Amino acid sequence: MSVWAKVPMGPPDPILGLTAAFNEDQNPKKALFGVGAYRDGNNKPHVLQCVRSAEQAIVEAKMNKEYLGIVGFPEFVQLAVKLMLGPDALKAGNVAAVQTLSGTGGCRLAGDFYARFLGKGTPFYLPNPSWANHKNIFTDAGLTVKQYRYWEPRTCGLDLDGMLADIAAMEDGSAILLHACAHNPTGVDPTIEQWGQISDALAKRNVRILFDAAYQGFASGDPERDAAAARLFLARGHQFALVQSFAKNFGLYGERVGALSMVCADADEAKRVDSQLKILIRPLYSNPPVHGARIVAKILSDPALTAQWREECKAMANRIIAMRTALRSALEATGSPKPWNHVTEQIGMFCYSGLTAEQVDALRTKYSIYITKDGRISMAGVTSANVEYLAQGIHEVTK
Ligand code: PMP
Repeated sequence: MSVWAKVPMGPPDPILGLTAAFNEDQNPKKALFGVGAYRDGNNKPHVLQCVRSAEQAIVEAKMNKEYLGIVGFPEFVQLAVKLMLGPDALKAGNVAAVQTLSGTGGCRLAGDFYARFLGKGTPFYLPNPSWANHKNIFTDAGLTVKQYRYWEPRTCGLDLDGMLADIAAMEDGSAILLHACAHNPTGVDPTIEQWGQISDALAKRNVRILFDAAYQGFASGDPERDAAAARLFLARGHQFALVQSFAKNFGLYGERVGALSMVCADADEAKRVDSQLKILIRPLYSNPPVHGARIVAKILSDPALTAQWREECKAMANRIIAMRTALRSALEATGSPKPWNHVTEQIGMFCYSGLTAEQVDALRTKYSIYITKDGRISMAGVTSANVEYLAQGIHEVTK
């Protein structure tokens, strides 16, 4: 008998499995709105011009391919933290920060840190709903994943009262994940006043805070505005961990560029935290890849390239915002009696359509339109060429 004969078949990943099913579909009209990867107006993957320029400069400099240190490329890490927390964030020396394998690797490292220093089985609260992979990441890290109220189906908006009540009831010593901006999958973010209330609620509690920032610049088109929640928490003296991904805002998906920073009480504590992050990283993957971190560092250290990145990031955000308007208009033009205002009110890469699992299945079997089971539509895949087909399909299955 084979050594692995008893290994059972696992289910496909709910998001990446969708791409596999789409690839097998023979319908020429098939359309995929699954994975959150930006597409240009012709539905093609998009590499930013500032990335091309930075890459060219890196190639011309004929750099070596030596290992980075355990914590990665220090210049990149510092620039990353300043991008989210502001230019003065590192002055006091109380922030421990390391490069990570994009946002997923940053979340996992934070989860491992929590499991080691808060204890295995510590309750870890995710918004309901959250990015599907969060549950896997923090469960595999050894934490007990729970949920707090976030989405209010009646209004297709934020259930702030539910969220605040759940924060008040969390176990002492537990931890909470907050999406820094462009909440995935709902596209619903608290207003800055609501973030103030969330901060007040958390200030009364002994609950560790983890900000997951996968979309800085993608929500509003302005990376400063999208940093408002994390900066508010910093200004109010919260100690939190921050995971940053550069997959979407720099279009560096496959390069796996990210950072984890932890705001500590003082420089001494930051040094101790930093030493323990190294101890966690070394046996996991030893040190992170160098190429993507060099690209981001080059862009963020060169004022002309930074300005270009801001323009390009804004253009991506604006295309998505334009497609939200187009989808809503196309839905209203079908004569659908349902309200579709949430399509334009939500923010970021996704539209949380409100479609049921049955309606999602019908979209796939009848129209070869692929969206995730929870009704999440990746707006990045919507173009002027496919928006009417999508709207028609949604109308037919929601009649
Ligand atoms: N957090 C959230 C909320 C996300 O949506 C994503 C990407 N879908 C990630 C983290 C991680 O992505 P990556 O590992 O590609 O940076």
